Amino acid sequence: MKDILPIEGQFALPALSYESLGDVIGKETLAFHHGKHLKAYVDNLNKMLPGSGLEGLALQEVVRRSQGGIFNNAGQVLNHTLYFEQFAPTPHAMSEKMTALIVSNFGSVEAFKKEFEQKGATLFGSGWVWLSADKDGKLVVTQQKNADNPVTDGLTPLLTFDVWEHAYYLDYQNRRADYLSALWQIVDWQVVESRL
Ligand code: MN
Repeated sequence: MKDILPIEGQFALPALSYESLGDVIGKETLAFHHGKHLKAYVDNLNKMLPGSGLEGLALQEVVRRSQGGIFNNAGQVLNHTLYFEQFAPTPHAMSEKMTALIVSNFGSVEAFKKEFEQKGATLFGSGWVWLSADKDGKLVVTQQKNADNPVTDGLTPLLTFDVWEHAYYLDYQNRRADYLSALWQIVDWQVVESRL
């Protein structure tokens, strides 16, 4: 994962590389989630950083070193950056190398997706489900609460599904499991693999 750096002390709202994700994530959700929720986290973080001693650091390092309000906003900027970046309306399929890695860790791609969806569906309250690599390259699926990110546990995040209600309520209402199973249609596996 590349370091996300501030420019003159300010983090920028990451641009989307697409205008639409079809029916999987509707345009209204995309507009609110990216243009309102994520923008608020970026703006809050930029207001809190001056005088914190964390100015100029990469976003990942701010997440590792902060607590409280700065951690919540920096974590949410990092989480959403990875989330929006990994989708595409016509995504790249999983490469043979990535498929082999998933099969060797989870038994099959289906077993991996089942565990990932199950951990997303059963996370109580707000948070994120993650696929990450540990220092030895072993892949793990974890649930993280609220703004948490696997970087705080020394893991390299590869893929994440946002299970905060704001991510799916306009399109799926209370059907979080349907939202999770639909997201596979737009995961760009070339982006995921590039984070290894
Ligand atoms: Mn979100």
